[in-house]
Amino acid sequence: MKLQKCNVCMHQFGWKKTYKSVFFKGWEMQCSKCETHYVLDLRSKWIFYFTPSLVIIALNNLFSFDFYITLFGTFFSLILISFLFPYVMKFSPDI
Ligand SMILES: [Zn+2]
Repeated sequence: MKLQKCNVCMHQFGWKKTYKSVFFKGWEMQCSKCETHYVLDLRSKWIFYFTPSLVIIALNNLFSFDFYITLFGTFFSLILISFLFPYVMKFSPDI
C-alpha cells in the first residue's frame, strides 16, 4: 500500500493530508509543492460510501446477539478502516 504521489511534481502526499481531505475538506486537495488542485475520483467516492455500509451490514449479522457489542464493534471497525482510507483513495488533478 502506498500513498499517492502528485502527477505533476511526484511529491508524495502525506497520510494526514490525505485523511483530512477525505473527511474534512470536501474531497479536495492541493499539492503542497506545485499547488496542483486535486479532487477525489469517482471510484474513491464509491469506496467512501460503500465500505462503511458493508461493514455495518456485516457486523450487524456477526454480532446480532448484543446491541451494545454491535454498536461498539461497528464504531471501532469504522474508525480502523478510516485509517486505511488514505492508502485506497485516489485523487485526480482538477483541470
Ligand atoms: Zn505537485
